[in-house]
Amino acid sequence: MAKEDYKGIWVFAEQENGVLSETTFELLAKSADLKEKLGGKDEITAVVLGDDAAAFASTLYSYGAEKVIAAEHANLGQYSARPYAEVLTALSEKYKPSIFLFPASPLGRDLAPRVMCQLRTGLTADAIDLDVDEDGVFVQTTPNFGGNILSHICIMEKRPQMVTVHPKVFSPISPIEGAAGELILEKPEVEADDCYILLETEKRVFEGKPIADCSVLVSGGRGIKSQADLDMLRELAALLGGELASSRPLVDNGWLPHEKQIGQSGTTTKPDFILNVAVSGSVQYLAGMQNAKCIMSINHVASAPIWDVSHYGAVMDYSKLIPALIAEIKARKGL
Ligand SMILES: Cc1cc2nc3c(=O)[nH]c(=O)nc-3n(C[C@H](O)[C@H](O)[C@H](O)COP(=O)(O)OP(=O)(O)OC[C@H]3O[C@@H](n4cnc5c(N)ncnc54)[C@H](O)[C@@H]3O)c2cc1C
Repeated sequence: MAKEDYKGIWVFAEQENGVLSETTFELLAKSADLKEKLGGKDEITAVVLGDDAAAFASTLYSYGAEKVIAAEHANLGQYSARPYAEVLTALSEKYKPSIFLFPASPLGRDLAPRVMCQLRTGLTADAIDLDVDEDGVFVQTTPNFGGNILSHICIMEKRPQMVTVHPKVFSPISPIEGAAGELILEKPEVEADDCYILLETEKRVFEGKPIADCSVLVSGGRGIKSQADLDMLRELAALLGGELASSRPLVDNGWLPHEKQIGQSGTTTKPDFILNVAVSGSVQYLAGMQNAKCIMSINHVASAPIWDVSHYGAVMDYSKLIPALIAEIKARKGL
């Protein structure tokens, strides 16, 4: 089959317990941009699997899907790798999308490579940008070699061009009420024997709010000298109505749990405001926060790479500035 026979942009609509992931909406928004750059002919399709998958259609239309393919079966209610991969492979073979985007979530990272293998196509993992070049070729950008270089990858011959994409690198559109589209309902056969048997689920307990969902973050780096100083950052974060986060060294030395780590091997965040304290700004760290709306930093070295992305900041010892900031905010709040 010639690659010209593959058409359209597909987004895997990830749902868990009846809730669509935010990254699904981010990918639908980005698909509209890709569609325009590809000449406007590629239809944007959300593909959703579940026991009542068609119920997601109206939400998916409101976030930009023009078409929804809903594959329904009682055994697709919960994620299981083998049936999900088989259903998506069969759908791809039937409808032949040119581009197939997945969230780089634990589920997406588990599922997409299985589909890729079955389709014998190409997959770019953990992309942090998607674009179309001047020749109309779809380009995926992803960090490689420990994040020290950025690769621009094109899947030239194989179709579909598959990608898993980091959460929070694109912004969803504001949902359009009453948006409508075409619904294709599929009823695949799914053997119960192929599905995971869920014995027990345990809710992950976070200290505070997950940093991915926070609009204000105060993030400490290796330059933080003691746990008492970290408590000071925690207090500042609380006064600003936000959460404490960190770069990797503070997690590696056991001061904070992994869910507080910003970055390539941690969490991608997109707060309205972030204060980086004694963080140098490695590429791996920046990958997790450079899309913040307002970036402020404190670092006593003027040449630190964090300044390349910072909007405001102070080149000084944090231990002199943070107590003064806390005192000032408390005074203004009358605390
Ligand atoms: C595959 C891979 C994945 C990785 N993933 C991540 C990741 O997800 N997240 C992550 O953060 N890192 C990650 N890393 C590690 C990353 O390469 C850096 O080592 C790390 O980000 C450095 O953290 P830092 O900026 O806190 O520390 P440093 O680079 O040591 O910087 C400390 C900074 O503090 C400043 N400072 C020191 N004292 C003071 C003071 N008193 N006042 C003001 N400033 C002061 C210094 O000037 C310096 O700039 C990864 C690495 C690899 C290889």
